[in-house]
Amino acid sequence: MEKQVWLQSLTSEEVKQKTRESRGTIILPIGSTEQHGPHLPVGTDTMVAMVLAEAAAQKAKVVVAPPLWFGWSPHHMVLPGTITIRPEVLVEVVYDVVKSLHQHGFDNFVFLNGHRIVNISWLQIAGERAKRELGVKVVIFDPAYMSKEISQSLGWGEVGHAEEIEGSHMWYCYPELVKMELAKDNPHKHRKLYHVDPRYTGDTLCYVPSSPAEQEELVRISGGASGEPSKASREGGKKYHEHLVERLVEVIEALRE
Ligand SMILES: [Zn+2]
Repeated sequence: MEKQVWLQSLTSEEVKQKTRESRGTIILPIGSTEQHGPHLPVGTDTMVAMVLAEAAAQKAKVVVAPPLWFGWSPHHMVLPGTITIRPEVLVEVVYDVVKSLHQHGFDNFVFLNGHRIVNISWLQIAGERAKRELGVKVVIFDPAYMSKEISQSLGWGEVGHAEEIEGSHMWYCYPELVKMELAKDNPHKHRKLYHVDPRYTGDTLCYVPSSPAEQEELVRISGGASGEPSKASREGGKKYHEHLVERLVEVIEALRE
């Protein structure tokens, strides 16, 4: 891990210096700790946020805050290793982190969300409040929303859970933690109105997490994955990762203009 970009690795004096060098810009990696099928670690969502933050921070010379390992994951409580926090807690924690960092000079915040649509509403609430009450700038960078073109070109199916998208990214970035041989496919069924993939262009209902009964069905079929992890590849993961790092650097540059 490249220590120099992580806030927790710096002394207070070094933080002061990095705040200036970064022109007050910091990335908050936010994820979850939740089951990711038989083949990916429960920290997947946080780990993807961390690895993207670290790579972009080195290029754009910004700081990365300590990651937030917890998200709203009630729908994954059917399997052990999952930790869920209430959405209102998430809003308060994120707001307090921003407020603390802002007090010492950070003004530009990137919420890097690895937990996809499930965390988005709460991050929007925290971000809006921070903008209104503290006068800071906030953007939310979500890999699922910032990779539509590359996911399409790699022939990957729609966003699900622990599918070929996350599988490929994790396989490339953390090969020692991935057990691809245990992955079980659970191809998306055709649904007329309910899609969480940002690439879907038709009419769609809004997201509400699954009930325990719906999740037990998922566990029975694939051990907790939805999608086709067998389509995952390390080369695809590399292309996806590099594409997202580039986009993230672009977003950072625009934010601090
Ligand atoms: Zn995930």
